[in-house]
Amino acid sequence: MAGLRDDPILETNDIKEEKREEVSLDKNKPQDKEKERDINNNSNNMAPPPTGNSIHRSGSRPQLDLSKAAIQGNSEERDPTILLPNQSDDISSHLALDIGGSLIKLVYFSRHEDRSSDDKRKKNVKERLGISNGNRRSYPVLGGRLHFVKFETHKINECIDFIYSKRLHRGGIDSHSWLPDAPANENAIIKATGGGAYKFADLFKQRLGVTLDKEDEMDCLVAGANFLLKAIRHEAFTHMEGQKEFVQIDQNELFPYLLVNIGSGVSMIKVDGEGKFQRVSGTNVGGGTYWGLGRLLTKCKSFDELLELSQRGDNRTIDMLVGDIYGGMDYSKIGLSASTIASSFGKAISENKELEDYRPEDISLSLLRMISYNIGQISYLNALRFGLKRIFFGGFFIRGHAYTMDTISFAVQFWSKGEAQAMFLRHEGFLGSLGAFMSYEKHGLDDLMVHQLVERFPMGAPYTGGKIHGPPLGDLNEKASKIVF
Ligand code: ADP
Repeated sequence: MAGLRDDPILETNDIKEEKREEVSLDKNKPQDKEKERDINNNSNNMAPPPTGNSIHRSGSRPQLDLSKAAIQGNSEERDPTILLPNQSDDISSHLALDIGGSLIKLVYFSRHEDRSSDDKRKKNVKERLGISNGNRRSYPVLGGRLHFVKFETHKINECIDFIYSKRLHRGGIDSHSWLPDAPANENAIIKATGGGAYKFADLFKQRLGVTLDKEDEMDCLVAGANFLLKAIRHEAFTHMEGQKEFVQIDQNELFPYLLVNIGSGVSMIKVDGEGKFQRVSGTNVGGGTYWGLGRLLTKCKSFDELLELSQRGDNRTIDMLVGDIYGGMDYSKIGLSASTIASSFGKAISENKELEDYRPEDISLSLLRMISYNIGQISYLNALRFGLKRIFFGGFFIRGHAYTMDTISFAVQFWSKGEAQAMFLRHEGFLGSLGAFMSYEKHGLDDLMVHQLVERFPMGAPYTGGKIHGPPLGDLNEKASKIVF
C-alpha cells in the first residue's frame, strides 16, 4: 500500500501506516511531546527563519491567491489535490476542518508534494526558506497545493494524530513555527465547521492546544461550492447512464442553482450568489440512513463494502415491481413499465422469508436505489419550486459511485422531463471544509477577476471522458424508475 509520502489523498486506513513509519505519538498528550520533537528535529546547520521582506505580501495580512487554481492529477482521481501555482504569501491558514456526523474532512495547504518523513521535513524547510546548497534564495517560493483528507468521526483521535504529525496545527511542516526557537502559539486557531466543531472543541484544545474557530455550516458549503464551480476546471460533471461528462459553467450563468449536500442528512440550498443563499429543504433520509440501515441489514463492516455489495445486487428479489402486481404486465396507461419499482422493499412483506433469506447484495442495492432516487426526486421538486435548472450534488454519500449518480440523475431527468440537470463535483465531500478554509480570507473570490481564476473551456466543447465505476447499468428505466404509482 502506498504510504503517506506517495499519496496525499488518504483514506483512514493509511494513517496506521503513517504512524508506523514516522511518528510514535503519545495519544493522550501530543503537546507534551512537542518540545522534545522540535529539539530532535533541529539541525545545527539550519538557518533561522528569514526576516524582512523576502516573501511578498500583498497587504497587511497574508493573502490566499486562488488564481489559476487547477486540479492536479488525472480526471479519475478521487478528491484530487488542487494546485495553487501563484500562492506567494506565507499563509498561515494551513488547515480547515469540517467535522460532520459521520466524517471529518480536512483541507490543508502545503507548499510541497506531501512528503512527511522527518528527513524530508528538514529538506522542505530548507526549500521553504529558499536555502539551496547553503545559499539563501532572495526570491519567494511560489505555489503550493490544497490537500484533501478524511477520517471517520468516531476515529477523531486518528485525525488529531494526523494533524499533529504534520504540524498542521502549527502552520504545517513548511512553517517556521516548529523550529525550536519559534514560540508555540498559545492562541492558535483552526477554522472549523460542522457540528463537531462544537462537540469536539475541548478535545482539540486539550490535545493540540488549539481553538476551533467555528464557521457556519451552510455558509461554508456554499462558499466551497462556489469556489469549485468558479475556479476549478474539470470539477463539475454530469453522469447519465454510465457516461461521465465534464462541464464548465459560464460564471455569468452560474446563479441561481440548487445545491444538494448529501451527508449523513441532506440539505437543499438555493444559491443566488456569493454568500447569498437560502436552505429551502432537506431530508433526514440520507447517507447516514443508507450506511446505518445497510450495516444493520447486511452486517457490512465499512461503507465502501456496502457500496461494493450493491454492485452485485439484483433488487427485483426485494422490491415490489409494477409487474409483480400486474402479473408481469406494464401499467402502460400512465407510462409505467413492468420493471418500475412500485414499492421499495415491498416484496419483503409478502413472502414468508426472514432477513437471512435475502442476499446482502440485493438488500444493499435496493436500499441504495431507494435513497438515491428519493433524494433525486425531492431535489427535482425543490428545483421546480424555484424554477432552477441546475442541481449540484455534493456530500460523501455520493462517493463518486456511478450507480448512485446515475440513479439521482435519472430521477431528476425523469421527473423534470429533461428540463433540469443533475451535476456532481469531484470534491463532493469537501465543500464545507473548503468553505471553512476560505473563511480565513473572507473576501477571497470577490477580489479576483474571473480571467485570473479559470482557464475556461471553449463553450460547447466540454471535456468528455473517464472510467466508469460500478456495474454496467443497462436500461435505466428499469434500474431507477418510479417508486410509487
Ligand atoms: P457528514 O458531514 O454528515 O459527516 P458527509 O458529507 O461526510 O456528511 O457524508 C457522510 C456520508 O458519507 C455517510 O453517511 C455515508 O453515507 C457516506 N460515506 C462515504 N464514505 C464513508 C466512510 N468511509 N465512512 C462512513 N460514511 C461514509
